[in-house]
Amino acid sequence: MIVVMKPGSTEQQVGHVVKLVREMGLKENVIVGEERTVVAVIGNDRFKDRGVLETVDGVDKVVPILAPYKMASSEVKRERSVVPLGNGATIGGKKIGVIAGPCSVEGKQQIIEIAHAMKEAGAVGLRGGAFKPRTNPYSFQGMGEEGLKHLAAARDATGLAIVTEVMSIDQVDIVCQYADVLQIGARNMQNFNLLSRVGECTKTVLLKRGMSATMEEFLLAAEYVMARGNHNVILCERGIRTFEDYVRNTLPLAIVPALQRATHLPVVVDPSHGTGKNYLVEPMCRASVAAGADGLIVETHADPEHAMTDGAQSITPEQFAKMMQSTRRIAAAVDREM
Ligand code: PEP
Ligand code: MN
Repeated sequence: MIVVMKPGSTEQQVGHVVKLVREMGLKENVIVGEERTVVAVIGNDRFKDRGVLETVDGVDKVVPILAPYKMASSEVKRERSVVPLGNGATIGGKKIGVIAGPCSVEGKQQIIEIAHAMKEAGAVGLRGGAFKPRTNPYSFQGMGEEGLKHLAAARDATGLAIVTEVMSIDQVDIVCQYADVLQIGARNMQNFNLLSRVGECTKTVLLKRGMSATMEEFLLAAEYVMARGNHNVILCERGIRTFEDYVRNTLPLAIVPALQRATHLPVVVDPSHGTGKNYLVEPMCRASVAAGADGLIVETHADPEHAMTDGAQSITPEQFAKMMQSTRRIAAAVDREM
């Protein structure tokens, strides 16, 4: 349930509600909105007495949260969340945030060079995997900690926020040491222990949709992170598996406005994994922004033909700069900046 406070309710009144909630054996999350404060009550509250809370000073009303995801639901928070990337930039506001870089970190010079090009073209974040979830155990598995160090060097050189994947609980501490944003990959979207663990971190989480997950499962995965106290979650649509085979994945863009109805969390689109084909990346960037996406995450490589991973879907820095220019015009048409 949500306890909706009256406009102008005091801190003491909110504090009293929190105390009563805890006495009921439930947990609270206080969300201070522009107009009023709400206290989201988390836990099984089905048998708890809502009437008691309704009579407390400063309380306007007590309403059940209907969605199974509570903290992520737009029922709890109507204003859209603006999530920090860690370098001063944000995703979720009027400005569309673009994260770009190679699928994998391949070396120090490679990542620093591409970081400069991405920054120049207007990206706010640098992506690059140091730990790679590979289907084939004999494929390149990523550079590990050395790759993380190269990413940190690229941040020092450019000021871009570092977005990189963490695949398991035992990698969380080390990835937190170097990264600004923790990426949870599609294959880990329902790794509930990992979700809970990154929910204890202070770093923003970029959560990718599982390739066969429903929208509700996606939002419940976000809820795992938020329930542990980390409210800085960015949702990423990266394409789903269908019968269609002219693309690597099918990119269902209707999920952008659908998510924005269901949740206050920002939504970004990954048209690289979403299509698997470099020539489809720019048009789908444009389509994503037209559909209302709050950000994009794009794979880029100076020499896609020789990329260690995902070359077929990587665009060159020149193609990236061109994409930024043409997508900016779409952003302006839908009253956004980029
Ligand atoms: C990636 O971003 O390189 C990646 C492995 O993505 P996904 O988890 O969406 O497949
Ligand atoms: Mn990739």
